[in-house]
Amino acid sequence: MDITEIPDDHPRKVSLETRETIIEGHQLHIVATAGLLAHGRGEAFDYLIGETTTPQAKKAIYAAVAEILLANHPVISVNGNVCSLVPTELVEFSEITGALLEINLFYYRKEREDAILKVLHDAGAKTVLGTHDRPSETIPELSSNRRKVDSEGIAKADVVLVPLEDGDRTEALRAVGKRVVTVDLNPMSRTSVFSNITIVDNIIRAMPIMVEVANELRELETRELEKFVQEFDNGENLETSLQIMIDRLQTEAKEALHRKPRTVKELKEADA
Ligand code: ATP
Ligand code: MG
Repeated sequence: MDITEIPDDHPRKVSLETRETIIEGHQLHIVATAGLLAHGRGEAFDYLIGETTTPQAKKAIYAAVAEILLANHPVISVNGNVCSLVPTELVEFSEITGALLEINLFYYRKEREDAILKVLHDAGAKTVLGTHDRPSETIPELSSNRRKVDSEGIAKADVVLVPLEDGDRTEALRAVGKRVVTVDLNPMSRTSVFSNITIVDNIIRAMPIMVEVANELRELETRELEKFVQEFDNGENLETSLQIMIDRLQTEAKEALHRKPRTVKELKEADA
């Protein structure tokens, strides 16, 4: 589909454009085939939350950014989906907060690593960790490819931002004592539940806000930043995010069942 043909008032416009970006990322070897499916799962939860950044997500963003600004050695774990959707924001966020970028792939292929590296460099990244030529260590708790981490990156990190992550990995990072921050549209995923701070939002909306908030908070004193983290309760935030989805299912989604398709005349009028 040519996305330039999607009219501005189309209810799925942003969602369709994002889907095109992911498909393009797949064609360029940035996104794994399984990444396409993970994206579809994200789309379903985004539908339920109303494709909007909730006040709960905003609150989680403040806590997440504060946590990363407070960290001694923060690292952003980059996978194919994240790289294809928000490369510029990743690099900006890394620069503002001092968090290092590390490529970490579930389905490792040299071709994918090269493609992701190129996108990050094109987006302005100077240093990218996690590539095959870098010193690495293993997280013993994990059996997949991703137990390999950069010696100067996740291996040493106190706080790791792992957006769109698998639950096994999040659990392993917690098990080896890291604080974990994530962006995940499914409030029930193991990653959402195991993380210290979960932003229940689409990464395409959350990441630009995270950049803004990082600029806003960067000059704050430690004491003030700590307040954002201390006042944040992940369990409570996840519960409220889930309740928003449940409420929407009971109201708007139910109303949608009674919607009637437009007539030819109405469709023509909308086109005019
Ligand atoms: P878990 O392993 O944590 O239990 P899972 O197996 O259901 O979760 P994974 O494929 O391992 O899912 O992880 C991908 C996660 O990323 C999913 O929870 C999915 O909803 C979420 N996700 C996908 N696309 C986006 C997006 N654009 N923004 C935010 N979250 C997303
Ligand atoms: Mg999983």
